[in-house]
Amino acid sequence: MIKRIEIMGVPIDAVDMTEAEAHASAFFEQESLRVIYTPNTEIVMAAQQDKILLDAIKAADLVIPDGIGLIYASRILKKGLKERVTGVDLMGRILSYCNQQEKSIYILGGKPGVAQQACANIRARFPHLKIAGFRNGYFQEYETDQIIKEVNQSCADILFVGLGAPKQEKWIYQHRKALETKIAMGVGGGVDIWAGTVKRAPVIYQKLGLEWFYRLLKEPWRYKRMMSLPKFMIKVLFSKR
Ligand code: UDP
Repeated sequence: MIKRIEIMGVPIDAVDMTEAEAHASAFFEQESLRVIYTPNTEIVMAAQQDKILLDAIKAADLVIPDGIGLIYASRILKKGLKERVTGVDLMGRILSYCNQQEKSIYILGGKPGVAQQACANIRARFPHLKIAGFRNGYFQEYETDQIIKEVNQSCADILFVGLGAPKQEKWIYQHRKALETKIAMGVGGGVDIWAGTVKRAPVIYQKLGLEWFYRLLKEPWRYKRMMSLPKFMIKVLFSKR
């Protein structure tokens, strides 16, 4: 059983990386779709105002704490989260599992060419997994049925959806009954990282819990979105008092 806690009403699973990986691997053996989300503080804040996003997260099967702010909040509120588990790291573990078990993947997301490049890099690193398909993440609503048909016909075991948050969470939630893969996972910019179009913060930033700061340096236009982090911490401290 996964221990599920709540931060500001948003469910998060108190798993470490090993447990997250074990749950994800077990999902491949299930009959119906299992959903994995990787929220950070920005998403927890967005879910305060966005009922569909909150419903989507509540309905997910594995919700990993991808954000150092969530770990700080858990410590302050004594909620019991174990460690930060990033979506991109879990994606790497899942890809390695797919390689061992010769499972197949479909990547949906990113600008034209990015999913294809990500698949090429993944293929080079994990030669035994199967690339069932890929598609860029810029499409119109009317194209969705065709995309889902393509994903289902590809017989992929797992669908990675990188449409950015909260778009990908809502997209998976809305179409979960039509999707026939074993797993759908929201991976945000993970597709860009696998494609090499976006670089991850150096390990020292990751270790110090400063990946957000690195991202702010690299993508300063995101500062508005990132303001949710201090707002989140203030809310946490007030709720403690
Ligand atoms: N993206 C997409 N379709 C869209 C919007 C975004 O495929 O309609 C992709 C975008 O190209 C990028 C990824 O979603 O590869 C993540 O976007 P962002 O950095 O905004 O999201 P985050 O990583 O914060 O979830």
